[in-house]
Formats: sequence, C-alpha cells, structure tokens
Amino acid sequence: MSLPWLTDDSRIREYCGLFGVYGRPDAAELTYLGIYAQQHRGQESAGICTGDGRSIRRHARLGLVTQVFDASVLGSLAGHAAIGHVRYSTTGSSSEINCQPLKVKSAQGEVAIAHNGNLINATDLRRTLEARGAIFQTSSDTEVILHLLASPAHAGADDPLAAVMRVLRGAFSLLFIFPDRIEAVRDPYGLRPLCIGKLPDGAVVFASETCALDIVDADYVRDVSPGEIVTLSDAGVSSRFFTEGERTRPAHCIFEHVYFSDPSSNVFEQNVHAFRVASGRQLAREAPADADFVIPVPNCARCAAIGFSEESGLPRGRGFTTSHYSGRSFIMPTQDQRDLTVRMKLNVIREAVRGKRLVVVEDSVVRGTTTRGKMGALRKAGAREIHLRVASPPIRHPCYFGIDFPDPAKLVARERTVEEICEFLEVDSLAYLSLEGLLSCARGAASNYCTSCFSGDYPMPVPLTVDKLALEK
Ligand code: SF4
Repeated sequence: MSLPWLTDDSRIREYCGLFGVYGRPDAAELTYLGIYAQQHRGQESAGICTGDGRSIRRHARLGLVTQVFDASVLGSLAGHAAIGHVRYSTTGSSSEINCQPLKVKSAQGEVAIAHNGNLINATDLRRTLEARGAIFQTSSDTEVILHLLASPAHAGADDPLAAVMRVLRGAFSLLFIFPDRIEAVRDPYGLRPLCIGKLPDGAVVFASETCALDIVDADYVRDVSPGEIVTLSDAGVSSRFFTEGERTRPAHCIFEHVYFSDPSSNVFEQNVHAFRVASGRQLAREAPADADFVIPVPNCARCAAIGFSEESGLPRGRGFTTSHYSGRSFIMPTQDQRDLTVRMKLNVIREAVRGKRLVVVEDSVVRGTTTRGKMGALRKAGAREIHLRVASPPIRHPCYFGIDFPDPAKLVARERTVEEICEFLEVDSLAYLSLEGLLSCARGAASNYCTSCFSGDYPMPVPLTVDKLALEK
C-alpha cells in the first residue's frame, strides 16, 4: 500500500536539543529529564556525558531518550557534571558513530561536545585539518571543533576555546564538558537558542529551551548571549566573550517560533505559544475568510488557530485527531510501513467536517505534498470549502544554519505564485502570513531575526550549495 501524501519526508527535519548541569550528584538523571523534555528537537539519537573531576563517561545511541537510557545506564554515568544531546540527522547519517555528545582524548586531556546548529565552513576546515594529518572518526561537522581544539595552533593560545570559536562560521550553540568544568557557547548571531537556569539548590543548568528547565524545576535566569562563553566549575559561574568587542546584529531563527520550539518554552526571551497566537491573529487580519469554523493542522498550528479564531470571531473546531502511540515512522524498515505509520498518526473526523466550510490553519508549507494530502483527506471526508491559511510566509530559499529543508527545487513555493500553490494544494483559497506580519509578532527589533528561508536575505555570506557534511548531524 502506498500513501505518498502522508510521508514525513515532506516535513522539516528537526535538529538538536542540548542540556547541561554542574554541581549535582544526580547530574545524569537531571540531564536525562532535560533531554527528554526536548525530544521534539530530535528523535534519532540521544546521549549523555558526565564528568567527575578526573574523567568523562559517555553513553550515546540511536533511539529515543527512553530507549537509550534506563536506570542501570544512568547509574553507570557517575559524576557531578553532565551534558546531554538529542539529535535528528539527515538521511544517510543514521550512524551510531555520529551520536552526540562526541568525546575525544588528546594531549590536552578529555573533552566532549554537544552541538545544535550547522557550521557553514566545516568542509573547508576539515580539508585543512586532514591535509595536516587529522583523522576523522565521524561524518559530523561537530568533530571539526574537537580537532581544532586539539590542534597545537589553538591549544597554545591564551584561551583555546575562544580561539577556536573565532574560526567557526554558521550556527552553533555548544556545550562542552571537560573533567573539571562545563562551557556553554553561542554563535555571534544567536541563531539557535541556549538559556541558563538555576535549580532550587543554586546549581546552574543550560538548555536549548526553557521547557527543559521546567521539568527539572529550574528557574530561567537569562539567555547565553550571542558570542558569549559561560563556564561552570567549582569556582562558580564566569562569562567571557570570544567576539572581542565586535557587535554583530543578532539573527535569531524565526522558525523556532513558527515550528520548532515547544509552545510552553520561551525562546529568544518570548513565549512560543504567545508568538503563535499573535501570528494567527495577524493572519486573520491579513487574510480573513468566510467559513463555519477554524481548525488547525496538528500539532504546531494549534496556537495559530486559536489566534485566528479569536481575531476573526469564527468558532474553533477539530478536524483531525492524532495518535500518540503509532511509533516512529523513520525506524520502520519499508516505505509502505513508514507511510502507514504516518497515516496512523492523523485521522480526519468525518462527522465534524462533512458539509462544512473550513478555515484550515497550518504553521508552514514545505514541499506541499503532505499538506495536499491532508487537504485531500478533508475533501474526501466531505468538507464543502477549504480555506487554507498559513501562519508564515512561503519558504523559497534553503537554510544553511541547521534546518534540513529539502532540496530547494522541491520547495512548493520556490517557483510558484500563491495562486499556483493554491491550485496544487487543491483548496478553495490560500493565503500566507506576510513577512512583515510575522515579524510584527516577534519581541524586539525585526532586524534581530533570521528570515532567510523566506526572504533569501542571509545574515552572513553563505555557500552556494548546502554543505552535506555539515548537514550530517
Ligand atoms: S533560514 Fe529559516 S530556518 Fe534557517 S535559521 Fe534562518 S529563519 Fe531559521
């Protein structure tokens, strides 16, 4: 049985989630909870490294957090410091060797790293290092950072970590664990989120999203600033900047708010749910529709549908149900099984939509094949009219900063007008939220956000083609 309209391939692949803690005897258990809360940021592999002041222990495997760790594994990860990572990579790199945190032992001692983002100069750096004799163990761009740290040129610097950070280009929120400390780093653009929290006993934690702070009962303190290195050790907390006084315009990924982050999280100092509700309200102002009620495409569009309903006065309804028990489609061995698993996740409620005029709110449209399938399912169930409203602008450009959009040629909006996309999706009307409208929902200056996949305006020079090495993470 082939059900190509509901394959996960059309959705955006997720990237990574980070968590770290210092100064707790239960560091591994807290990190388990921290990455579990961020499972939505990566479902392919999970890993934790702990430090006890002398050495670093590591456990990282393919699978969900609950599959990779049990009580005995956590019990073996002794130490008062830990970093953890969940990851989702591109096809072809589902290898245990690439699971993070990556750990190495060099002349400088042991170190492990967890990375969220994408280095756009990874291939160049790797070629240079290989030409000097470096032997790489993985196909991940993250390993480049470890080789740079171990290289004599950087190891001999006053601040080796800062010296390496100055060489990197692209998006990087990083956690390092050394036997005696943890260091957290954020790239000068602040593309990916990374925040600092405090546990009730005063111990300090790091997390990609604040939902990971909530699960361990930590209070949000602040974000790691763009270009900052924050160190946790027995000496306490300290901070320094590797950007040497240069101020770069921040470029926070607006897609964190549109799609990636959990609605309960605050990222870039703004609640994700509130942002999405505001985007739905703005969408209703920009593109009203005459309909019986508003339904979201689960799950990400739920908040935007609330906003659309509130602003338009149209009642909210439910057109789909989702199953939490259908498992992970990508681990199924055949395409037919994967297709079936994805279809099992989403059902149309026929009685609710039959004969109705619907406003269907979607968070974003990538290839369009998944959305077309869902709209077709609503139509098949008897929906009379479908007015699709998308709470973000058309995606027309690739992302070089860690989001695995498909080949740009496969983006439905790449070469099509909105009218042509409407025809392709087979809906009665289609409207996207404008870029200005999207940015009006964001906290602070619009110029502080990366919107490159919508606008083609990149915050830094980017390669002409997506760096495949860098995407294999
Ligand atoms: S290009 Fe899009 S997805 Fe990538 S960092 Fe920028 S806003 Fe985020």
